[in-house]
Amino acid sequence: MKRAIYPGSFDPVTFGHIDIIERSAKMVDELVVAILNNSAKNPLFSIKERVSMLEEMTNHIPNVKITFFDGLLIDCARKMEASIIIRGLRAVTDFEYELQIAQTNRIVNSQIDTIFLTTSLEYAYLSSTIVKEVASYGGDISHFVPEQLVEKIYHKYNYKN
Ligand code: ADP
Repeated sequence: MKRAIYPGSFDPVTFGHIDIIERSAKMVDELVVAILNNSAKNPLFSIKERVSMLEEMTNHIPNVKITFFDGLLIDCARKMEASIIIRGLRAVTDFEYELQIAQTNRIVNSQIDTIFLTTSLEYAYLSSTIVKEVASYGGDISHFVPEQLVEKIYHKYNYKN
């Protein structure tokens, strides 16, 4: 069984994340989307909220499972018996950091490889940070996240759609 893990903050999940999930799920038997539980980051959405958002957004893909983790990704991947880590690359700015992490992970555990998917062009600019920035001023985020999430995000900033 080929299992991959796709880690991230997903705070909130965007069309860019969903695109990577849909594309990578086709390459493996099971894709585990693993939400990093990093309280130091002061997230907009709790882990519970992010799990439920991701479950809702991926329920059309049967081989996707949602979980969360603390600590090192490579340890989580080993525990989940995943042999592949999936990461999305948007721009060269992502590349340097991602390369360093992937190389470090391979030294720690040579059984686990990282696969990078390049972003779809229409989502190349998109990040959770951009979504939060626009939403915090009450701007239109409907091009960035699925319709069902728009209200949930505005709600965090006390805006009505
Ligand atoms: P961000 O807060 O930057 O959106 P996450 O930690 O949630 O980041 O991202 C998880 C993974 O998804 C990372 O590998 C990131 O590069 C990737 N990713 C995020 N947004 C996109 C996008 N628009 N297109 C492709 N990959 C993306």
